[in-house]
Amino acid sequence: MISLIFLGTGGGRFATISQARATGGMYVHTESARMHIDPGPGALMRLRSCGIDPTKTRVLAITHCHPDHYADAEILIEAMTHGCKRKRGLIAASSSVLRGYGDIGPAVSKYHSSLAADCVLLEPAVSLEIDHIRLSALKTFHSDPTGIGLRLESPDGVISITGDTSLKEELYEEHRGCDVLIMSVTRPLKARIPYHLCTEDAAMLASSIKPKMSILTHFGMRLIKKGPASQASWIEKQTGIRTVAAWDGMPLLMRNGAPSVQKSVSRQLQDAKSLSVDLEE
Ligand SMILES: [Zn+2]
Repeated sequence: MISLIFLGTGGGRFATISQARATGGMYVHTESARMHIDPGPGALMRLRSCGIDPTKTRVLAITHCHPDHYADAEILIEAMTHGCKRKRGLIAASSSVLRGYGDIGPAVSKYHSSLAADCVLLEPAVSLEIDHIRLSALKTFHSDPTGIGLRLESPDGVISITGDTSLKEELYEEHRGCDVLIMSVTRPLKARIPYHLCTEDAAMLASSIKPKMSILTHFGMRLIKKGPASQASWIEKQTGIRTVAAWDGMPLLMRNGAPSVQKSVSRQLQDAKSLSVDLEE
């Protein structure tokens, strides 16, 4: 089984500043894999409240160099490396995050990058196999031009994550063949802005990809005020595809290619009490 917990479902400046929705990213968990994707502000606290042990993380994946996606990265690298004492884990991120691009980034210091056992620069078409998950970088069209989306292929199914992007035809090919499509939908109906998906864009992408389930996340303030569930039900009516507006703490579970969402965090993830390392200074 693969599970993916939404540690946060907010995005964009004002939803992040106000924490109208949390911004902790997503946490992927299988029998062998522990991967934290896009740890924005409050990610560490969200792990704590969901009962997930950050010292067990083996992969930290960051899609682009905006603070709603990377703000807690360095402290989580310190957790992943057991207080900087063990060379451990993989950082997989866009070049803006690891090296900087123009006047953006880097988001992770050279010191923190050097703590991990490995660092991989993700750009479209780069793909790696880790802990029985194939992690591939996909194209995005965002204000960070080095940003990426992600595809996770596990024996239990394929999850495609748009990352922050505007809608372009090339995305239809990038996300084809997934079981679950997770879309960063920042803006509601009739409120399109550059570099992001709005509700109409999400419906167009989903109806072309035809996943078993579409999940909306990364809600901006305007969308939160309109009600994420109403945007999801509009998309579901348009596409005929089951569409869920994620909520903070929502677990997506998938077994044999069949996705489901649950009301609460799975018990098996509540391993916070099993800290196996000495984290004292
Ligand atoms: Zn964002």
